[in-house]
Amino acid sequence: MPELPEVETVVQGLREQVTGRVISSVTQRRANLRIAFPPRFDESIEKTRITNISRRAKYILVHLDSAQVVLIHLGMSGTLRIMPKASHQVHIHDHIWWDMDDGKRLVYHDPRRFGLMTLADEDSLAEHPLLAHLGPEPLSDDFSVSYLKAALSKRHIALKVAIMDQKLVVGIGNIYASEALFRARLSPFMPADAVTLKQSKALRTSIQQVLKEAILSGGSTLRDYVQSSGDAGYFQHSFAVYDREDEPCITCHTPVQRAVQAQRASYFCVNCQNVNR
Ligand SMILES: [Zn+2]
Repeated sequence: MPELPEVETVVQGLREQVTGRVISSVTQRRANLRIAFPPRFDESIEKTRITNISRRAKYILVHLDSAQVVLIHLGMSGTLRIMPKASHQVHIHDHIWWDMDDGKRLVYHDPRRFGLMTLADEDSLAEHPLLAHLGPEPLSDDFSVSYLKAALSKRHIALKVAIMDQKLVVGIGNIYASEALFRARLSPFMPADAVTLKQSKALRTSIQQVLKEAILSGGSTLRDYVQSSGDAGYFQHSFAVYDREDEPCITCHTPVQRAVQAQRASYFCVNCQNVNR
């Protein structure tokens, strides 16, 4: 599943390639992905100009000069690819494509169809039902140390589960939660409401570092092929603890352990992260 850094990389690639382009025509091959496309979606966006591409949580936001915004979520297996129209060999899971006025084609491909594509008004974007409940962006000023400390203090649940709650902060998926906690030397099992101000500061720094590094390592993989390829991809980013069960901790050489929390695998060093369970 693409996580925030992968989505951000897609956004940066798209922004370079399609900002300023007019969508000349849309080919929609089915009525729904995870949810239905809006009625007459193709007509709604045809002949509009793309003014910018941005991101909120894991939603890709395509801003149009019609004051509408296309919200795209890649789900588990969605990819967006840009290619010259003439070189597109249509695949069964290519569900929709947009032709641009420069001869390029943007193709949405999604074998499992957990993704979505829908429309919102620019004016009321923040109140859209898919976005309204979301917490602050982890790389924004809103995600301050004092905010994080206060938000954690209201949650008597395991710290790793708390930081994966999209109402607390968006975009910290399973991989980056384990990595950030290792780097901050905090146990994934400690109660969120026991985290001190000093620990909150370390955690915020770690979260931002792991996400920024992943975005940077992804940026270099982009050419004219914008993609987000699911689990196997992750830009071959190397992780300190994630998926390294029984391998030596990179800091102290204690074997990395794995445990399941809220149905998700957590990876940690009992020594560096002072884990008592
Ligand atoms: Zn260690």
